[in-house]
Amino acid sequence: MKRILLKISGEQLGGKNSEGGFDVEVAKRLAKEVEEVIQMGAQMAIMVGGGNFIRGSQVANEDIDRVTADNAGMLSTVINAILLGDVFQHAGVPVAVLSNMSVPQIVDDFTYRRALNHFSKDRVVILAGGTGMPFVTTDTGAIMLALQLKCDVVAKATKVDGVYVEDPIENPKAHKLETLTYNEAVTNSNIRVMDKAALGMAGDNHLPIVIFELLKDGNITKIAKGENLVPKLAKSGLIA
Ligand code: UDP
Repeated sequence: MKRILLKISGEQLGGKNSEGGFDVEVAKRLAKEVEEVIQMGAQMAIMVGGGNFIRGSQVANEDIDRVTADNAGMLSTVINAILLGDVFQHAGVPVAVLSNMSVPQIVDDFTYRRALNHFSKDRVVILAGGTGMPFVTTDTGAIMLALQLKCDVVAKATKVDGVYVEDPIENPKAHKLETLTYNEAVTNSNIRVMDKAALGMAGDNHLPIVIFELLKDGNITKIAKGENLVPKLAKSGLIA
C-alpha cells in the first residue's frame, strides 16, 4: 500500500482512562508501529476522533445546540491531534498536524497541497477537525480525506479483531462475520463498525476499508504490506 489513512477513535486514544483523557502509552505504541510503516516507504495520514472528550450527539440538549456540541466535538479532535503529534515528534517520527477546524494559534489549517507537501517529506499527517462541519463524525471525515488524498485504503482501528453482528466485548459468543459487503454494512443496523454515511461514501467510491485491532503488534505493518487480516472478508467489498 502506498498511502494509508488510519482512523483512530478518541476512545482508543483514551486507552485505560475510562473517564476521558489521553493515554500516552497508546500513542507511543502507535508511533512505533507507524514508524515501521514509514520506513517501508508507505505514507500515512491519521484521522483522530474526539470521543474521549466530547461527542456532539451526547452533549446536545435543550440548552446546547447540536451545532455548538459538534463544534466542541471537533475541538476535542484538535486536542487529541496535537497531543498525538507531540508524542510522535518525541518518538522521532516526523509529523505534521493539519486541522479542518481553524484554530490558527495552535495548528495549521488542512489544505490538500499542504498535506501532499508533508507526505513528500516523509511526514505522517495527523488530521484534526473531522470534516469541519457538524452532523457527521470523524468516520465520514476519514473517508472524505482518504478520497481527497487518494489513499489506497482506510484502516479503521477497533478494539476487536473483525466485524461482529453484536458487540463481542458485551457478548463473547457474538458471531464474527465471514463475508460483508458495503451494502450489507450500510443496511444492517446491528453492524456498527463505522458510521453509515462513511460506509456509503466509501462504497460509492470503491475505497477499501480494513478493520483491524489496534492493540495487536504488527497489524498496521500487515495492512501496509497489503496482507488481509481476515482474508475471506477481503474478497467481498468491505475489507475487514
Ligand atoms: N464532529 C463533527 N464533524 C466532523 C467530525 C466530528 O461535528 O466532521 C464532532 C461530532 O460531535 C463528534 C465529535 O466531533 O461526535 C467527535 O468525533 P467522533 O465522534 O467521530 O469521535 P470518535 O468516536 O471517533 O472518537
